[in-house]
Amino acid sequence: KGNGELTKMEHAHKIPKIKFTQLFIDGHFVDSVRGRTFETVDPRTGEVIAWIAEGDKEDVDLAVKAARRAFDDGPWPRMSGYERSRVMMRFADLIVENAEELAGLDSLDAGKLFSWGKAVDMPNAAAMVRYYAGAADKIHGEVLKMSGALQGITLREPIGVVGIIVPWNFPTGIFFTKVAPALAAGCTMVVKPAEQTPLSALFYANLAKQAGIPDGVINVVTGFGPTAGAAVSHHMDIDMVNFTGSTEVGRQIMQAAAVSNLKTVSLELGGKSPLLIFNDADIDKAADLALLGVLFNKGEVCTASSRVYVQEGIYEEFKKKLVEKTKVWLVGDPFDPSTNQGPQVDKNQFEKILSYIEQGKVEGAKLLVGGNPMGREGYYIPPTIFIDVKDNMRIAREEIFGPVMSLMKFKTVEEGIKRANDTRYGLAAGIVTKDLNLANTVSRSIRAGIIWINCNLALDRDCPFGGYKMSGFGRDMGMEGLHKYLQVKSVVTPIYNSPW
Ligand code: NAD
Repeated sequence: KGNGELTKMEHAHKIPKIKFTQLFIDGHFVDSVRGRTFETVDPRTGEVIAWIAEGDKEDVDLAVKAARRAFDDGPWPRMSGYERSRVMMRFADLIVENAEELAGLDSLDAGKLFSWGKAVDMPNAAAMVRYYAGAADKIHGEVLKMSGALQGITLREPIGVVGIIVPWNFPTGIFFTKVAPALAAGCTMVVKPAEQTPLSALFYANLAKQAGIPDGVINVVTGFGPTAGAAVSHHMDIDMVNFTGSTEVGRQIMQAAAVSNLKTVSLELGGKSPLLIFNDADIDKAADLALLGVLFNKGEVCTASSRVYVQEGIYEEFKKKLVEKTKVWLVGDPFDPSTNQGPQVDKNQFEKILSYIEQGKVEGAKLLVGGNPMGREGYYIPPTIFIDVKDNMRIAREEIFGPVMSLMKFKTVEEGIKRANDTRYGLAAGIVTKDLNLANTVSRSIRAGIIWINCNLALDRDCPFGGYKMSGFGRDMGMEGLHKYLQVKSVVTPIYNSPW
C-alpha cells in the first residue's frame, strides 16, 4: 500500500464504465472519417482502458463546418447573454451531478487523485462555468466621445469559431478554463483534448447537449497533436486558437496561424517557476509550500515550483524538514483515499522524468531523497529532491513536469531575485517571508504572470492567469479570460445633419 501496488480490484467500485469513445461533431457521437482509433492507457498498470476515435484533418474540417454553421446561422451567438447563462447554469449542475463518474474518468486516464477530483476539481469546474455564466449578460461596449459632429459606440462581439487545444495534466480544469468563457462570449468551438486523456472531454460534450447547448457549439475531436491539433491551428475557418501545452508546440501553433489565416492566438505554455524562501520564514510552513509546489498532481503542473531557493540562514534546517516530510508522503493508487500522489500520466512522461533524474546525477547534483521508480507496475515516481544543483544544469533550466525539485541556496535578496529571473520562462513564482516590504519588492521584481506570497499554486477562476516571456501570452480566467473571446467593433454616426 502506498507503493502503487494496490490492485485495480480493490477500487473497482469507483472505476467508471467508459461510455463515450467517438468524436462529438454537430451534436452527435461519430466515428472518425478514416475509421481509425487509438488507445488510452491506465497509468496505474499500463493497460488499455479504451479505444478512442482518432480524428484527423477531415474530422476537424467537419467539426469546423458545424461550428461555423452554429456561429453564422445558429441561435447561440444571437441569444441574449441571460439566455446563454441559463443554459450554462444547467451545464454546471450536470457536472456536479456526475462528479463521481467524472473524477473517476480523470483518475483512470491521468492518474489524478480520485478524492481530490470529486471534492475539488469537479466542483471547481462547475464553479468556473457558473462564474462565466454570471458574466454572459454583462458584456457591453462603451460610448465614445468623438471630435466634431460624430458619436460612436463600441460593441463587443464574439470572436467566432474558436479552436481549443488542451494538455493532459488538467483534462477537466483547462477544458473549462477555456470552454466556459468562450460559451459566455457566444463563440462556437472545436476542442482537441490531449491524446493521453480524452475521456472526460467526451463526457462533457454529452453533458453540454443534455444541458441544451445547441448542436455545433461544442465539438470535440480526439486525436493526436501533429494531425488533429495541427489541423485546428492551420484551419482557414477558425478565428482564434487558445492553446495550453508546451512552449515547443506553442511556437508551432503561432507559425501555423501565421501561414494560414492569421487567426488570433493565445498561448499558455511551460514554466520553471522559482520559490524564494527567506531567512525569516516559518520553516515548517515553507517546507509544506515547497513540497506542495512540486508534488501536487505528481509535479505535472505548469506552475510547479521546481526551483526552490532557500536563504542560507535556514538552508540546513529547511533541508532536514523536507526529508522528514517526504517520509510520510504516500505514492500509490489514485483511487485510494490515503494516497498523496498517483502515477505519472503515461510511459513517455515517466521515462522523460527518469531521464532528467539521470541527467541531474551525471551533471553532478546529489539526490537528497527519491530518484528511483516505484512499484511493480505502472508509472510511479516518488518525491525526488536534488541538492548541489547549479543554475546552469538542465534539471534547473528545463521543465521536467514531474515530482522533482532542485533545491538551491542563496545569500542576498538581490541574488535571489536575479537567479529567480534567470530563466526563459515566466509563468509563476513564490515568495515565503514575514516581511511585507520584502514581499512587495520581490513580487514586483520577478517577471512572471502570477506571484504567490506565503502560499503556492493558488489559482482561482477570478484571477487572470498566463505567462511572461516564453511561458506564452494572453490570460485565461478572470474577466481577461472572457475578453479574449470578444472583438471590439466601433460604430460611428453623425450626431446631426453634418457634411458627413
Ligand atoms: P504538448 O504541447 O505536447 O501538447 C498539448 C496539446 O497540444 C495536446 O492536445 C497535443 O495533442 C497538442 N499538440 C501537440 N502537437 C501539436 C501540434 N503540432 N499542433 C497542434 N497541437 C498539437 O504538451 P503536453 O505534454 O500535453 O503538456 C505539458 C505542457 O503543457 C507542459 O509544457 C506544461 O507546462 C504545459 N502546460 C501549461 C499550462 C499553462 O497554463 N501555462 C497548463 C498546463 C500545462
